[in-house]
Amino acid sequence: MYDLIIKNGLVITSEYSSYMDIAIKDGKIADIKEKGKLENYESKEIFDASGKHVIPGLVEPHMHIKAPLGGVVDIMDFDTASECAAYGGITSYIDFTSTLPGDSLPDAVEYRKKEMEISTLDYACHCKVVNLVSSELAAQAAIAEVRYKASGSEEDKKKLEEAEKKVNDAVQARLSEIPGIIKEKKIPTFKFFMTYRKANVMIDDTYLLQAMEIARDNGGRCGFHAENNAIAEFNEAKFAEEGKLDWEYFPECKGNICEAEAVNRVISYAEMLKAPIYFFHITTKESVDLIRAAQKRGVDVIAETCSHYLMFTKDKNKGNDGILYLMSPPLRTRKDQDALWEALKDGTLSLVSSDNCTFTRKQKEAPLVNGVHDFRKPISGVSGIEERFTLMRWAVENGKIPENEFVKLLSENPAKVFGLYPKKGALLPGSDADITIYDPEKTSYLKKEDLHYPEELEYSIYEEFSAKGKVEDTIRRGEFLVRDGIYNRNSSKGRFMERTL
Ligand SMILES: [Zn+2]
Repeated sequence: MYDLIIKNGLVITSEYSSYMDIAIKDGKIADIKEKGKLENYESKEIFDASGKHVIPGLVEPHMHIKAPLGGVVDIMDFDTASECAAYGGITSYIDFTSTLPGDSLPDAVEYRKKEMEISTLDYACHCKVVNLVSSELAAQAAIAEVRYKASGSEEDKKKLEEAEKKVNDAVQARLSEIPGIIKEKKIPTFKFFMTYRKANVMIDDTYLLQAMEIARDNGGRCGFHAENNAIAEFNEAKFAEEGKLDWEYFPECKGNICEAEAVNRVISYAEMLKAPIYFFHITTKESVDLIRAAQKRGVDVIAETCSHYLMFTKDKNKGNDGILYLMSPPLRTRKDQDALWEALKDGTLSLVSSDNCTFTRKQKEAPLVNGVHDFRKPISGVSGIEERFTLMRWAVENGKIPENEFVKLLSENPAKVFGLYPKKGALLPGSDADITIYDPEKTSYLKKEDLHYPEELEYSIYEEFSAKGKVEDTIRRGEFLVRDGIYNRNSSKGRFMERTL
């Protein structure tokens, strides 16, 4: 006796599109056969999916909920995020720890897991590793060095050695936690920032190399926010001097080279160390070319792009609403966008994420002085966790990607890349019964009132987009989170997903 049978639907995976019946028991797929061919149809419930499309539940591998960015916290928590995600056909997601400089990594993991417990989706997190040395320790060492160089005295020499030892101890304390994060906490993926020095988030390259080596030796993969910090800071100062601070100058301030240099550098490190790497949010043609060439040389590099880079170009930063389209890395040109689509097609880029960070217009405008446009001031980031489904349906409708590729880029590949496959991202006997059902004839719209973000969000940046294909049922481990287009607030809670690569 099964718990649920989903029959007569057109099942679409990365490999096939075919009418299949799916039998579910104890939250897992017990059997999946051609329509009418299951061995038995005894089930507590039979769900008729005639006329509908049935796909493996989407996996969102890059999002930020309740993340303190530059002192501003977004308006979502994991309850509201679950609702938006479920309406967007997602059944499991991966966020990040909110590690601060000096935090122990296992503590940061436990803290984040607690925050995520209210999720109705299954959840996991990447371990964010920020600057390993607190600015206080770094300053002490710098001062001690200046003093010793000036005096040359034995006493100052001793003080310098002590300060350096403190710095080294702090670094080693963090690095030594990495194997435990991978093996005991079951979190094999990390995120490092190559920029945001002033926010004390950027990691020194020397420590980065050490971290990559340790992760490699313990079955982990390091991921990167790849932007060259020096170029960003240098240009920012220059642009300020020249009075070029309106929204539209931001993409130019962090031009293509800013990303491409950082990508190139990490690829060099990975090649030298034979270490696996991952790039979050790739935006430029130059980066795509570098990644493609590295993959051809045998470097183990995987990369993603995000839906907003595929939908928008930097023209969106012009005018008063330009503030709503600020994100890092910034929007690019049509040429870059074409390169991203091409890279998704030929497999250079493996998946599409949302990088969701939901801020209100009010939050973004709060730091402006007398409303004067200044791209250095607002918090960056855009929503997308709910819209990603429809945006990529738009891509299918407009011939950007084939139907089966949709499933690959949004479900199968995220699960494979991040150590969840075939439990997630697959419709195979033994897989978790994570299933998304949509009506291919109904149009999904992305106006503010069509979405389910908290009330205070005043806008949708995607309101010009719509596509055929509306999510009607989102099933997580056999349980309907969304049924007939309505989210079930009383569904059971999600589970933490242990991952190994
Ligand atoms: Zn991000």
